[in-house]
Amino acid sequence: MNLLIGVILRPKLPACVCLLLTAALSGCGGPEKRQPSGVIMTPGTTRAPRPQPPPSYPAPRVPTPAVIQPQPQFTPQPSQPVVPKSQSAPTPIQPSARPQWIPLQTWAAQMGLSAPSRVSQTAYQIKSGAGVFQITVGTRVASWNGCKLHLGFAPAATNGVPFIHSLDAEKNLSPLLQASRPVPRGRGLIVLDPGHGGIEVGTKSVLGNFFEKDFTLDWARRLKPLLEARGWRVVLTRTTDRTVELAERVLIAEQNQADIFLSLHLNAAAAGAAGLETYCLTPAGMASTLTRNYPDPANIVLPGNSQDFENMRLAMRVHRSLLQNVGMPDRGVQRARFMAVLKTQQRPSVLIEGGYLSDRNEARLLATPEYRQKLALAVAKALE
Ligand SMILES: [Zn+2]
Repeated sequence: MNLLIGVILRPKLPACVCLLLTAALSGCGGPEKRQPSGVIMTPGTTRAPRPQPPPSYPAPRVPTPAVIQPQPQFTPQPSQPVVPKSQSAPTPIQPSARPQWIPLQTWAAQMGLSAPSRVSQTAYQIKSGAGVFQITVGTRVASWNGCKLHLGFAPAATNGVPFIHSLDAEKNLSPLLQASRPVPRGRGLIVLDPGHGGIEVGTKSVLGNFFEKDFTLDWARRLKPLLEARGWRVVLTRTTDRTVELAERVLIAEQNQADIFLSLHLNAAAAGAAGLETYCLTPAGMASTLTRNYPDPANIVLPGNSQDFENMRLAMRVHRSLLQNVGMPDRGVQRARFMAVLKTQQRPSVLIEGGYLSDRNEARLLATPEYRQKLALAVAKALE
């Protein structure tokens, strides 16, 4: 009932409020989501737009004209600047002097790594002391130690030479070279954000009257003592079934000068989807993997982009631990720009989608305390 009210009311609200409410659902909140444009989106849908570097980037600088003749996918596609509607004071992206595309081998050499090895017709691996990258030409889906991550641009190849986009090298690959380093503790305080609450019930289980808001609160309550046992202080954005605005959730992190912010959610889709997703804010200059039909202006820098490096490290640590300790299908570390609880954070922040309440198997598991304890333990282990 409450879910229906939420769905009915949202399109009638002003755009900014509508954005906040829908972003609160963040991948969950019902089997379908109606967007401001009137398009019905399936939560969990991954969008993979063509790479369209912002116009402020220089044309590709190439080693020699003989080696790289920019293919269609290399060609910068100037796009119209998008006026940000966010209230989070984004700033225009600054021009960069770096080349857009770099040979994978060049990046590996810059990082002191051995040359990439070709493992299939289109896939390449790079090994480091911390793990193994695998990228595949033509797809944004890459992996790190077998865990999926979604790149901003599909790697390309010309004359058998694989190239990666410099933003992917900087924002996705380089942080993972330090994936084994523990998350910095600072003041040692984590804010846990159980998604939804009160009139925002989140998504409803396919098995009946079980709601995301109750499961996420239980998950956070189980996680709190596990983190405290590992030396963290923990603050929850809600400890009861109450409605909490998204801005308040971020404010709680700010007021507590939190070192880390973890938002806990469960997912839903019209059919077929199952597994684990971990989100962090999209770096400036690249497209998100999830937009839910919201504007996704790549040419702005959001306050939360100051955390890009640690965001990726934290997201992969959490995601990998979930896969290892819970064992559901891997839907990857993904990027989103519209999620209000991530946009303005001044600390590493991720949003975890801990399974699909629309999937009968996962809904059945999520309804058991034992499974929610496994979810909590998996997150805690990522922060040891
Ligand atoms: Zn949610």
